[in-house]
Amino acid sequence: MIREIPAKAIFDTVCDLIRKASFTPSPDISAALSGAYREEKYAPARFALVQILENGRIASGNSIPICQDTGMAVFFIELGQDVHITDGGFEESVREAVARSYRELYLRKSVVADPLFHRVNTRDNTPPVIHTRIVPGSMVRILFIAKGFGSENMSRIAMLPPAAGREGVLQTIVSAALEAGPNACPPMILGVGIGGDFEQAAVMAKRMTARGVGTHHPQAEYAALEKEAMDAINASGIGPSGVGGKCTVLAVNIDTAPTHIASLPVAVNVCCHASRHAYAEL
Ligand code: SF4
Repeated sequence: MIREIPAKAIFDTVCDLIRKASFTPSPDISAALSGAYREEKYAPARFALVQILENGRIASGNSIPICQDTGMAVFFIELGQDVHITDGGFEESVREAVARSYRELYLRKSVVADPLFHRVNTRDNTPPVIHTRIVPGSMVRILFIAKGFGSENMSRIAMLPPAAGREGVLQTIVSAALEAGPNACPPMILGVGIGGDFEQAAVMAKRMTARGVGTHHPQAEYAALEKEAMDAINASGIGPSGVGGKCTVLAVNIDTAPTHIASLPVAVNVCCHASRHAYAEL
């Protein structure tokens, strides 16, 4: 049976997600930052963590952005095949919600229309980046990510030969974080996509930045790889805001997909502590 969902409901939901993500730090990230503070002895790192936590409290208490880079609007959408959107277009509703929200919430408009020659600001933070999958059922699931580009710019993809194996993947993840250093506003959250093809690896990596801090890959081998990468990065001493200290990364979140016999793609999407994301189902 077909379920009708008005485009206005998509618009309203996306507006709610943008408001929620832009002003309120995720509880899992705040808890992890507080835990890092309790573990840290080095005074500059403790000071940096206090500043990050205080910034989050001020932002959510006063409805002001967590960071001045309010991000490019990225959406992961699962659209049930039994859904019929009425009274408007689906993607148009998402685009309009981004334009309205970034304007009315005074979020910085960070998108230029032409990437190379003209770089003129679109003035409403559109267009968003939308990844849509058609899935069974009559639900619509929307994950919004406001992606800052200080960290996005430090992201990497490597098309490794299969013989690179576990060690090659580990080195790719760790070196991405070490090269990012203070530029990605640590403590970082790394989303990692292993397998698929070139673009599928990158899409998985972006989505994994929102999997949650403190979650683990369900397969023990990958969960162990997540932990080993985290430990190696945190041993680097880059620390919060790059001032030195124990906590450089809060999470390494891996997702995987089948791949070609001749390749071992690894994408690392670097995200800062201001990892802003929100999720809703209709
Ligand atoms: S990397 Fe993150 S915390 Fe740093 S400026 Fe960009 S959005 Fe803000």
